[in-house]
Amino acid sequence: MKILTTVKEVREYVKNQRMQGKTIGLVPTMGYLHEGHASLVKKSVAECDVTIVSIFVNPTQFAPNEDFEAYPRDLEHDVALLTECGADCVFHPEASEMYFADATTTIVPDVLSKNLCGKTRPIHFGGVCTVVGKLFNIVTPDKAFFGQKDAQQLAIIKRMVRDLNFGVEIIGCPIIREEDGLAKSSRNTYLNAEERKAALCLSEAVKIGMEMVEKGEKSTKVILSAMIEHIKKEPLAKIDYVQAVDGSMQDVEEAEKDTLFAMAVYIGKTRLIDNFMV
Ligand code: AMP
Repeated sequence: MKILTTVKEVREYVKNQRMQGKTIGLVPTMGYLHEGHASLVKKSVAECDVTIVSIFVNPTQFAPNEDFEAYPRDLEHDVALLTECGADCVFHPEASEMYFADATTTIVPDVLSKNLCGKTRPIHFGGVCTVVGKLFNIVTPDKAFFGQKDAQQLAIIKRMVRDLNFGVEIIGCPIIREEDGLAKSSRNTYLNAEERKAALCLSEAVKIGMEMVEKGEKSTKVILSAMIEHIKKEPLAKIDYVQAVDGSMQDVEEAEKDTLFAMAVYIGKTRLIDNFMV
């Protein structure tokens, strides 16, 4: 597997692959990879001739009070996992390679980025769109793979691709969970043993919501109340939000097909997200 660190190298690599008529899949990540990331990579390997995985802890999507510095990093482990998954190339740039010091152009998503995570993290999705837009321009993939775990991000990226005519197909992939239900996340490593147990309240709330929907409950107010009530029983949990929204991330009163039930909950100092879609 190739490990590339500059934009020029990636462009040359991609040009070479294209000349051989190969299709390109891109999996953007921040590294510290787990089975959730691996599922995206495997899907890309299955659907595209060449799979490029970017590993870049993107500074512009973190606010100053967030965990940019503390974010876990382990390139050696990531490279081993990606080799096993059959990825062809890792793009692992320095921040100085990705961003010009005097850059003046960014991508700013509108309505979809204002609700849910955007309320607590107002600059987050602008940083995500800018870096993903840049990766699309650098790699020019045929397909790019994103997890439903970050459902709002997936919706925003899909909208960005449509609005700005990026020539890439966005593929959403299901949430991969630990055996006990906790959604896999690089940030789970922040949790101590007690917090790890407490974190189950998120996936349990997801299950409660899903079961109510399956039984025919339509009122999001009723469903959200039951989910919130469950999370509140956990003393280490502090709710950031638990909401039900439509495809434009606007709150809805009735659960119907594609309604997204999404939550962010602090377990101690760690902010975790989870969701399900009807
Ligand atoms: P990250 O490294 O956290 O930025 O995530 C990179 C990609 O992996 C994003 O598209 C995430 O949605 C996806 N991802 C992260 N965790 C999971 C998971 N548990 N299941 C599926 N996809 C995931």
